[in-house]
Amino acid sequence: MFKIKIIDITRELNSETRVYEGDPHVRLEKFFTVDNYGYAVTKLTMGSHSGTHIDAPAHVVAGGKTAREIPLSTLIGDAVLVYKKDFRIPRGTKRVILKGSEETEGRLSEKSARSLVDAGVCLIGTDAQSIGNDSVHKILLSEGIVVLESLDLSKAEPGQYILCALPLKIDTDGSPIRACLIREWDEE
Ligand SMILES: [Zn+2]
Repeated sequence: MFKIKIIDITRELNSETRVYEGDPHVRLEKFFTVDNYGYAVTKLTMGSHSGTHIDAPAHVVAGGKTAREIPLSTLIGDAVLVYKKDFRIPRGTKRVILKGSEETEGRLSEKSARSLVDAGVCLIGTDAQSIGNDSVHKILLSEGIVVLESLDLSKAEPGQYILCALPLKIDTDGSPIRACLIREWDEE
């Protein structure tokens, strides 16, 4: 067996989590507490696109796939992490993660969104809060390509990884995810 290294690329969900303008804020309320009831239950309130999350095709396509319907085989598998600036991906790449050095740099233009569609990718992730404007979302999601937004790539360098990014099993247009990159451990 070989050893693996796991890099968590998920932002923390709490009341400070920044959300897209106009979206519901994240709230964690103590509904029951161990002191008062003998067990704790938290009431969660948030939008489906809070923190590190997936955009399912249903986000912009009426009748498109929901978070529940995205196959696990799309969400788990080999991925290439590249700097967004002048990025190139190897032929046959299925999952691409774009790292921008600043917030806006992780966003795609319509032209590069189309070129990723033509390249046959099934998943695109970014550390930006949004992958691009409305038409970039339409170009990708209407082709069934799923999008991961607001990743934390501060600890991930460009390279090849296994990505694991799982949404809740829920019929919504998006869902928070816990995402990580996995690679073989090479004790540098
Ligand atoms: Zn989103």
